[in-house]
Amino acid sequence: MAVRERGPGAQSPPYTPVAMTRSQPPAPIPPGATIGILGGGQLGRMLGFAARAMGYRVAILDPDPDCPSATVADRLECAAYDSVEGAVELARGCAVVTYELEHVDAALVDAVKAAGVPVRPGAYALRMTQDRLAERRFIAGLGIATAPWREVADEAGLREAAGHLGPPLRLKAPIGGYDGRSQVRIATPDEIRGAVDRLGRPAGTPLLVERELDHAAELSVVTARALDGTLATFPIARNRHDAGILVESVAPAPIPTEVADAARAIGGRIAEALGAVGLVTAELFLLRDGTLVVNELAPRVHNSGHWTIEGARTSQFEQHVRAICGLPLGDPTAHGPTAMVNLLGAGELRDAHLEGVEAALADPRVHLHVYDKRRVFERRKMGHLTVVGSADVDEGLARGRAALAKLRWA
Ligand code: ADP
Ligand code: MG
Repeated sequence: MAVRERGPGAQSPPYTPVAMTRSQPPAPIPPGATIGILGGGQLGRMLGFAARAMGYRVAILDPDPDCPSATVADRLECAAYDSVEGAVELARGCAVVTYELEHVDAALVDAVKAAGVPVRPGAYALRMTQDRLAERRFIAGLGIATAPWREVADEAGLREAAGHLGPPLRLKAPIGGYDGRSQVRIATPDEIRGAVDRLGRPAGTPLLVERELDHAAELSVVTARALDGTLATFPIARNRHDAGILVESVAPAPIPTEVADAARAIGGRIAEALGAVGLVTAELFLLRDGTLVVNELAPRVHNSGHWTIEGARTSQFEQHVRAICGLPLGDPTAHGPTAMVNLLGAGELRDAHLEGVEAALADPRVHLHVYDKRRVFERRKMGHLTVVGSADVDEGLARGRAALAKLRWA
């Protein structure tokens, strides 16, 4: 722990009064130290691979001893995402703690900080992004556009808001939603009746209702912010969702340079305003008039950044490790057009056995990632395929889809 707190004092020249009055950033965390990760899903697993490659040890908190990250964990703290005791236990011996999902209880992050271990990207970044209403207010405070929205608590409020926003609408629970869960589409005014109940939250829960936007594309920008405030932005990804779940990403997105620059600027402003140290992802809608609006933020590595493992000079996972360990950021440039397709589960809940791998990998430019989830069910994120070396992202996507079509769950 002393290593973490010690500044670079010995190297400071003795005659720089301006620099001396500034607070020194904490010293970098060296390989050999342990990184704690709240959450043991596939993001923690891939973060763990990157951390281990650089010589760090990994401690994971997850309620499931067979979670996808278990295999990369030097230490697995088996505890719920709202277990303060578990988080404090995880933090013991860690030089830094990060999170791989934004639905961990903020009290855990506070407890880790109180135990003297830094949490990165940070407690504020977590608070501002784990509640959609807080997130909307935060984004509005930056003067960045989102879909027009209102906070509502019941059907009467929803009806009134619908009068202003107009259908089609999306009614979203502020907390706990992912992969399109915890939201209800309201296509016509008739569907307002019962919509609050269909969302299934306790009566009176504040909810977000917003206009459904007829966008030209969904984009995302993954921004890394280093401990000294340096930013590095990955090439913008263009994403396709199916019923709310990400199915495909390509990067660099084939979009005008001005749009890419605008997306980059939005990502940078958000990462700075969050005071984040590590990665921050902004999901964006590109409207038909060329403007961008923010849909959602995640203070973490993101599914739409998985392409960077093979497709960029630095992967998003390595970049996050570098940032949270106080190291200089890597070059985020893409090697070339890259496509990523998600491998989703299909069918009833059962043991996971993947078939067709030989056929899928017959295309030598296809890379397979499987998250080692023991059980498969319909639309569960089980892995992904990345295609590199294509002439353009459309060719990459075609190859990725062809490979995906060869895979099935027995
Ligand atoms: P989640 O937390 O499940 O990712 P999102 O708010 O990102 O929730 O919604 C998932 C997907 O649903 C989006 O990526 C987009 O495809 C679609 N969607 C959500 N809100 C809107 C909206 N206001 N207009 C159009 N599409 C939307
Ligand atoms: Mg989303």
